[in-house]
Amino acid sequence: MYDLIIIGGGPAGLTAALYAGRARLKTLILEKMALGGQIILTSVIENFPGFPGSIATDKLVSAMEKQVKDLGVQVKNDEATRIISDAGFKIYGQEAGYQAKAVIVASGATYKKLDIPGEEKFRARGVSYCATCDAPFFKGKKVAVVGGGDKAVEEALYLARHAKEVVLVHRRSELRASKILQEKLFQDKKIATVLNAVPLEIIGGKTVTALKIKDVNTAEIKEIKTDGVFVFIGIRANAAFLGDFLKLAEDGFILTDEEMRTSQEGVFAAGDCRKRPLNQVITACADGAVAAFGANRYLEAKQ
Ligand code: NAP
Repeated sequence: MYDLIIIGGGPAGLTAALYAGRARLKTLILEKMALGGQIILTSVIENFPGFPGSIATDKLVSAMEKQVKDLGVQVKNDEATRIISDAGFKIYGQEAGYQAKAVIVASGATYKKLDIPGEEKFRARGVSYCATCDAPFFKGKKVAVVGGGDKAVEEALYLARHAKEVVLVHRRSELRASKILQEKLFQDKKIATVLNAVPLEIIGGKTVTALKIKDVNTAEIKEIKTDGVFVFIGIRANAAFLGDFLKLAEDGFILTDEEMRTSQEGVFAAGDCRKRPLNQVITACADGAVAAFGANRYLEAKQ
């Protein structure tokens, strides 16, 4: 029996573990992939306080991992598939069952797909959702990036360091990304932007050769010749495993109050999986700290 099980080892889960470890709670992190979560798909973080310029993601994650392991927090590589209330909470994993008095769901989010013809067919043959992983394959080639948020702009800038040419395709006339990223984007001579355009189809033979787009104002359909299509159009919560155990918002993110309490007493949520106005590493960390504080208070009240 653990005092606390944290589902997910991204910045939210790791920070929750840090606070839980310092409160001397017997804590387990369940992580289905590698510690770090979605941020390990990005090479650097530019807006984490205290690191002017940037901090390499792998360094930040390693430091967070060391910090929690030094406090005795256990980490298990397993995927939570279900939670039920049962003498506290029972979490079913792929490999085993786990029991805890309190739970923090910090299961993060996954990238959304375009759901257009060619996307599945050319996945890993030109279609990618991770610039850090796949940019080297496009050295000296041309790539298209779809999206207008922070992620699309950051990844377009990263891709421009490898590719010969990058075209950013966005469906509106204004980008959603922060202004500082937009300034960098517009200054980069290797990057062109195509605004007011929606992707219709990814075309190719063995690999991608073009992205078919439609101008939303004129309805004109064009093909952009490209060797790759990188899709960064937002995220959806990793909450399917919860079934109807917790109350979710209409868009699938977990509903919490400002103390990270969910609809189930003793279960807290933190980070990208919960409904909140700003998804950043720093806000994920803040959520994790608040959730662990709440879990500790809940456990103390039960004693
Ligand atoms: P996002 O901020 O939700 O932006 C998604 C972008 O994709 C928007 O520009 C959206 O267009 C566009 N889009 C959505 N669905 C589309 C579709 N079907 N077809 C074409 N375009 C579509 O998502 P994100 O950039 O992936 O970032 C996810 C979260 O992580 C955000 O909260 C973001 O702030 C955060 N993040 C932060 C940083 C950072 O601070 N360094 C870095 C990366 C990510 P519209 O604008 O028209 O809706």
